Amino acid sequence: MDTMLAGRFHLDSKKFVVEEVPVPVPGPGEVLIEVKAAGVCLSDVHLIDGSLVPLFATSDTVTVGHEVSGVIHTLGPDLKRGLTVGTRVTLEAGKTCGQCAGCVRRRPCTQMLTAGIDYDGGWAQYTLAREDTLIPIPDSLPFDQAAIIPDAVSTPYAAVVATAGVRPA
Ligand SMILES: [Zn+2]
Ligand SMILES: [Zn+2]
Repeated sequence: MDTMLAGRFHLDSKKFVVEEVPVPVPGPGEVLIEVKAAGVCLSDVHLIDGSLVPLFATSDTVTVGHEVSGVIHTLGPDLKRGLTVGTRVTLEAGKTCGQCAGCVRRRPCTQMLTAGIDYDGGWAQYTLAREDTLIPIPDSLPFDQAAIIPDAVSTPYAAVVATAGVRPA
């Protein structure tokens, strides 16, 4: 079995450890991403210092990191988007749960899952991503800049433009 290094937070012992884990295998609708860049968000610091507690964790250990870019390495089965190996992508910082009242009515999800907090994120050599959470990026955009767009750029952008309604002038 192939292994990789991953930065993992142990929710029970509250310890952060860089450790060897199996390279994950993409399931239906997923792809394996070779991580090229991953940001450090203050939420990651809050997770590790215990002030941010995962709401929807499914395991007592989680690979941290929700600002991630990389290259599509392996395609899982049953993909719908025509994604190809080698495509440069950035990853949305979370995913819809697929099970709540919102999701089943094709309305906004009421319990969005956050990468690197509720499920394994990208402080690792490889990470899994559901195909609907991938955004192809141009060759001209460096991986380190692409990685932070889905959180460190879009969060303040939404606060200024959507919530506050700020307009030019
Ligand atoms: Zn963040
Ligand atoms: Zn949902």
